[in-house]
Amino acid sequence: MTAQRCTAQTLQCTADAIGARRSCAIHIAWRAQEPALTVCSARKQALEPSRRPSVQLLATSAGISCSIPCGIPPARRGSTARQADIVSDCVTIARRFNGPPNSANGGYTCGLVGTAVEAPSVRASLRKPPPLEVPLLRRREDHGCVSLLRGDDIIATAVPAAVKAHAPPAPTVEEAEIATRMYVGFAHHRFPTCFVCGTARADGLRIYAGQLGDGPLIASPWTPQSDDPLLVWAVLDCPGAYAIESVDHRTQIVVLASLTVELRQRPRAGERHVVAAWPVASEGRKHHSASALYDAAGRVLAIADSLWIELRDPVAFGR
Ligand SMILES: [Zn+2]
Repeated sequence: MTAQRCTAQTLQCTADAIGARRSCAIHIAWRAQEPALTVCSARKQALEPSRRPSVQLLATSAGISCSIPCGIPPARRGSTARQADIVSDCVTIARRFNGPPNSANGGYTCGLVGTAVEAPSVRASLRKPPPLEVPLLRRREDHGCVSLLRGDDIIATAVPAAVKAHAPPAPTVEEAEIATRMYVGFAHHRFPTCFVCGTARADGLRIYAGQLGDGPLIASPWTPQSDDPLLVWAVLDCPGAYAIESVDHRTQIVVLASLTVELRQRPRAGERHVVAAWPVASEGRKHHSASALYDAAGRVLAIADSLWIELRDPVAFGR
């Protein structure tokens, strides 16, 4: 991945543009952590607190769209922006991080909000299918919570929360390599272009979790290309759905409602790891599963609880 840093620019937005009678200056800095994911942060520099405009401003600069909330807390006039003044940032999920054809992978999206929460274990909940290639506002709320918004629509939220699952003994990498041959997605795949589990993606993570022996555990080997925590959230997602399917071979589509992740240690790029998942419980259309990431020595690097909802109208999903 190529890291690049753009120079900061100052954007002068007029009263007309923000629906208020005053002008304000918003300092925008952005960085591209990788070519596909653009992140920018907005720091308020000078805005009368009594006349905070409530509309959002869409600014485009150097091909990067930024949705900036204008109802941001006041900073002392003339003070330089500090880390504590960063109230929000803007993320755009690149098309290649899709799950279903036209929305983002759920685990990846949960990671976008989950990794922004400062806690050892975080629950991210999806409220709507996360859109691709659309500027989204990642907003830090009170009490350490983070929301991901598209306009007024909440796409995802994240809060500190403990993982309940306990990881079973780690499958070995060799066992995972045998299990992956049993991946049901080879025979039939609902979302073959999924970034995480799709069989039609040469550039995907290729997490093909198949049944390990006769038990409920499914497993896949994984050699990460980077230690990015977002990828850890992503790989803990899809196997959880296959773990549910392995119980009753259901044909209904389940979608991720929430993913709670405890990341104990980042994976090591280039080394072999194992991702495993197992079913936990079902109640009506709600299904619980759990997943874990192990290193080759069998240490648990991350563990997750996931909640899945069976769709009433699966046909409408993914269009
Ligand atoms: Zn997938």
